[in-house]
Amino acid sequence: MTTFGTATAISTATAFSEPSGTATALLLLGRGSDASSERGVECPGDLPAPSDPTLVDRARAAKQKLGDRLFVLGHHYQRDEVIQFADVTGDSFKLAREAAARPDAEFIVFCGVHFMAESADILTSDAQRVILPDLAAGCSMADMAAISQVEAAWDVLEEVGAAGMTVPVTYMNSTAAIKGFVGRHDGLVCTSSNAKRALTWAFERGQRVLFLPDQHLGRNTAVREMGFDLEDCVLYDPHKPGGGLTAQQLREAKMILWRGHCSVHGRFTLDCVNDVRNRVPGVNVLVHPECRHEVVTAADQVGSTEYIISTIDAAPAGSAWAVGTELNLVRRLANAHPDKEIMFLDRTVCYCSTMNRIDLPHLVWALEELVAGRVVNQITVDPDTAHYARLALDQMLALPQTVSVD
Ligand code: SF4
Repeated sequence: MTTFGTATAISTATAFSEPSGTATALLLLGRGSDASSERGVECPGDLPAPSDPTLVDRARAAKQKLGDRLFVLGHHYQRDEVIQFADVTGDSFKLAREAAARPDAEFIVFCGVHFMAESADILTSDAQRVILPDLAAGCSMADMAAISQVEAAWDVLEEVGAAGMTVPVTYMNSTAAIKGFVGRHDGLVCTSSNAKRALTWAFERGQRVLFLPDQHLGRNTAVREMGFDLEDCVLYDPHKPGGGLTAQQLREAKMILWRGHCSVHGRFTLDCVNDVRNRVPGVNVLVHPECRHEVVTAADQVGSTEYIISTIDAAPAGSAWAVGTELNLVRRLANAHPDKEIMFLDRTVCYCSTMNRIDLPHLVWALEELVAGRVVNQITVDPDTAHYARLALDQMLALPQTVSVD
């Protein structure tokens, strides 16, 4: 049986254990680099001071000078100070498609995280350049599935005779290398909106699915929406030999879930749901499918970021909502709907810390460098990886369309 190593941690990394027990290594934000991580390096530039009172004017002026050559994308979880400069806002997939729909924009400044910028680079033309204002803006979930680990896991499946009828499916929130792996093995990418359709497609072609990297989205979709039992799902731990599973467990599983999770959505617990129901009688609990299974099971409604936004938009005045997703988005929803009672599901602050690396000083710096004719922090995916990742993305786009998971 194949044994494979754990992710490399450099001297500036700290290890910690997430609630569900996945050990991971994190760079101190903005410092150093780790070749095995999707996180990048410290900013090479001369950043303006965060206290500079002219930052908003400078960002505005740089945008104006660049005109149609520039297109700024803003993920829903971004800070207000940054999102105000976005030409379009959305979830990761919507933003990548928006970039592809603007072939005349020479520079795509992606206010999101690294894997999103990679997807934009894959879907846009060679002439377009994708820029991530701070290379330290990674995604802890994407980092939980390194390509070397996934290739080793596939070797394990081959050794036990389980690879042949296994279809790999990866969540959009994964590195380009993982998307490329999935494309090479005739699988596909999914989003939180189309995970059920993606799994249905996969089960028409195989007996089991290797679902990367978010165990919760995989489990919630299979059990809550497709009628599988929890016992049909096994958890593959890349830090243990053979994933910590026996050959029989791997052969009999319907869903082999990668041991990854979102460090933001993983914070919500069943206690949060019970607590808010006690405090606010009649409250509707609305959560993202990256939340743990027991949270999703206890919620009233479950859906993607876009689903959460449209549900709150359509909710009647006077209704109360406890929302389990990233705090910047929940705060903006609450501000946009003063006629509704909108609250955060957890009592403690829960930002996506890596997404929040993109702040106004980094945005101003990246834009002003473009004005000066210098492209900084460009994100590129090598042609071979991009080719296979594109196959996996195109397969997703070819899925029959429905509105949403809920
Ligand atoms: S919210 Fe979670 S999945 Fe999204 S970028 Fe942050 S860590 Fe990654």
